[in-house]
Amino acid sequence: MKITTKINLLTTVWMLCILMIVNFVVFFLFMKTTVNMEEKVLFQQAEDILRGIDKNLYSSNIELKLNDYITDHSFIRIIQPKNKVVHEVTNDRLLSKKIKGKYTTTKQSQTRLISAENGEEEVLIVRLPIKPGNQLSLEIGERLSGLETRKEILRGILVICTLFATILSLLGGRWLANMIMRPISNMINTMEEIEKSGVPKKITIQNKTRDELYTLANTFNRMIDRIQENLAKQAQFVSDASHELKTPLTVIKSYANLLRRQGLENKDIAEEAIHAIHTEATRIQKMTDTFLDLANLENEKVLEINKIDLVTLCESILKQLKEVYKREILLHFEDNPITIYADELKIKQVIIILLDNAIKYSHDKIEIFLEKNRQQTIIHIKDYGIGIPENELDHIFERFYRVDKARSRETGGSGLGLHIAKRIINLHKGNIKISSKEGLGTNVELFLPNLQRTDS
Ligand code: ADP
Repeated sequence: MKITTKINLLTTVWMLCILMIVNFVVFFLFMKTTVNMEEKVLFQQAEDILRGIDKNLYSSNIELKLNDYITDHSFIRIIQPKNKVVHEVTNDRLLSKKIKGKYTTTKQSQTRLISAENGEEEVLIVRLPIKPGNQLSLEIGERLSGLETRKEILRGILVICTLFATILSLLGGRWLANMIMRPISNMINTMEEIEKSGVPKKITIQNKTRDELYTLANTFNRMIDRIQENLAKQAQFVSDASHELKTPLTVIKSYANLLRRQGLENKDIAEEAIHAIHTEATRIQKMTDTFLDLANLENEKVLEINKIDLVTLCESILKQLKEVYKREILLHFEDNPITIYADELKIKQVIIILLDNAIKYSHDKIEIFLEKNRQQTIIHIKDYGIGIPENELDHIFERFYRVDKARSRETGGSGLGLHIAKRIINLHKGNIKISSKEGLGTNVELFLPNLQRTDS
């Protein structure tokens, strides 16, 4: 069943339930107040009769006197103990037959249903003693015929009102359901289109009332924005990566061709070709490793946070690098140990990327400063090399961005190092800053917030 039909039916059924309860209460209250009023009138009449017959109570013409008070479809009786009717005047034989006389010493009233000529009819009876000690009581009974007619009219009005309200509720419910469902139907249509075409598409938000449906549509659009952004990034990455792989592959292909044509006869050419093919193959291997690193970093839950000592970590990195590069790298720190909560392998990767750059683009000493304050830990890597031109600094973290393409190729750079470093630091909710002066050197600062251990 469609949700609009469901809303429509539910609101109508709910409305009908409320109407039924209201009708019942109205009907019940109407009956009660009307009978109460009739009862008051009848008691008033009984008081009048008592006053009227006070002096002729034992005279023989008392029934004549009582006749003066008789109303339509009623009886008046004077009753002795043991329910003995002494006098009775009536203009309704049936009523008098159906209701038996009852003696009373207290004022009381009663309603009874009797089967009359036109079905059941309600009868009101009031009883009250005639002066205490007289051993007589007065009883008046009267058919509530007018009440039946009023009951019928009220029942008719209530039925018509209920029908009218049901029709209004059905129409209103339909309008309401359509209004609520319009943005949802819109969303379903767009999703179906996306499913068919495979192209993410946004919903047109027509009604800008800031309700939950507006929030839903907005969230959906934001999600589509992100998907589009990611798809664009993916496409850009594939195009950049293929472009990067093209150069070494071309070199490999041309040397392989050279080998095929004449390399095997000429030992020098063969050696040169094999060397070039090996170098380019190594470069491709390094590049694919970096691509994989980058792909892993796209998954934001890759961090393995542990308590680590930065001093020990830097010392072990320097030991490794110094053996390979034979460069002067100085480590400065005020406290020992400097404890942080971070992913050790990832932070090591960042420091190696930055030191590798400093080694590649400088010949002088390299310095590392470690510092920790109340809020954050700062790792500062400083070199005195070629520096980066000011206008290039803004692009330095972009994927595959290299300042000097030829030089970078010479040094084996892929233009992904700083991008990966920034991504890792961002995953740690930290910040990376580069300042540089051409010809003077480069400063890289890593700011890591002092986090407590969190499971990531
Ligand atoms: P690459 O692998 O090419 O070094 P990076 O992303 O690490 O890629 O660096 C991007 C570019 O920034 C490099 O090509 C280089 O031109 C410049 N660069 C990075 N670090 C330094 C540095 N310490 N000194 C001078 N230039 C640098």
